[in-house]
Amino acid sequence: MIADKMRPLVENNSAIRAMFEEGKKMAAEYGRENVYDFSLGNPNVPAPPAVNQAILDIIREEETTYVHGYMSNAGFEDARAAVAQSLNRRFGTHFHLENILMTVGAAGGMNVILKTILDPGDEVLVFAPYFMEYGSYVRNYEGVLVVVPPDTDTFQPDLKEFEKRITPKTKAVIINTPNNPAGVVYSAETLRRIAAILLEKEETLGTQILLISDEPYRELAYDGVEVPYVTPFYHNTVVCYSYSKSLSLPGERIGYLVIPQEVEDSRKVIAAAAIATRVLGCVNAPSLMQRVIVRCVDEQVNLEAYNRNRELLYSSLREYGFDCIKPEGAFYLFVKAPVDDKEFCQACKKHRVLLVPGTSFACPGYVRIAYCVSYEQIERALPAFQKIAEEYGLTEKRGKVQ
Ligand code: PLP
Repeated sequence: MIADKMRPLVENNSAIRAMFEEGKKMAAEYGRENVYDFSLGNPNVPAPPAVNQAILDIIREEETTYVHGYMSNAGFEDARAAVAQSLNRRFGTHFHLENILMTVGAAGGMNVILKTILDPGDEVLVFAPYFMEYGSYVRNYEGVLVVVPPDTDTFQPDLKEFEKRITPKTKAVIINTPNNPAGVVYSAETLRRIAAILLEKEETLGTQILLISDEPYRELAYDGVEVPYVTPFYHNTVVCYSYSKSLSLPGERIGYLVIPQEVEDSRKVIAAAAIATRVLGCVNAPSLMQRVIVRCVDEQVNLEAYNRNRELLYSSLREYGFDCIKPEGAFYLFVKAPVDDKEFCQACKKHRVLLVPGTSFACPGYVRIAYCVSYEQIERALPAFQKIAEEYGLTEKRGKVQ
């Protein structure tokens, strides 16, 4: 019965599911506290208290037929205005509510913008390592994913390889900074160089190329590192944002798209994106969460909790001899595997440590450790990481880490 196009997705999904099920089985056998699951990017820091308070206040104070009712496909006007004003305050931009479209998280936003712009055969460039769902999102609209290979010295985008892959069929480029899984942040200089390449290609090819900045981790940046706002760098930029991580609300499915007026044909793009939201079946972003955003637009989770995890895990793994760069943002550590990454993940499972192979992010030879877990889980897992390092002789080779 199921479509041929769905078959590979189902097979791939069962591999991920098998890992999840294995984690549950291991927890039943050894006790939850003895299984060190670093596989999922599910925030463990609670939503700010103001978010829960806002939910209670909204139900008490606002007209419930309004709160629970249908609305414009782009979302409540006051929610869109609150987002625009917050961005303008923080980044010196000049957005109006018309430039904001409320979405069903970043996944919803990415699908809406890709549906809005892609014709069959259009190419979308991504920089490896990348969030694996991009491939499915692009294929949803019969686009073709083109992967720029990773620069594993820095995990910054390899711009020479990028330039080579831009063709007359290139319709969009996806960037993700702070990055899942590498934890790197793109500097203003990197964004300037990406913009210069795109402008030059638009000119010589006579095409329009949309830069899609997928930024669910924008607020998760450490040591005061700047995460430059992308729209001022390049006219054809759309931002896809999510509150899944910044407010720890992944299950509530709330985010937004920014479509600035500088985007070619912006009015048509904005109108088409609202229709895409409807015809994809989202209809609109969850209404209660939009009401929450009106009240909590500048709230943030406790970043220090993630920072503590980052410092402990990074310094400990480094001490044991693991090779990785220090993440500047998001909540992942991307570590060099001493052997094939899938084999390494299997070996780690024997120590009840669950990781994701870099192959899942188009970057074999590395593994991702999600440190959005409790500090205590990291403390409990450290002896296992140390044993693994010893098993692979990493401890003797220590000192290679940047
Ligand atoms: N983009 C990236 C890079 C992500 O890591 C994730 C989730 O982990 C998403 C998009 C999807 O986020 P959301 O829960 O807002 O749909």
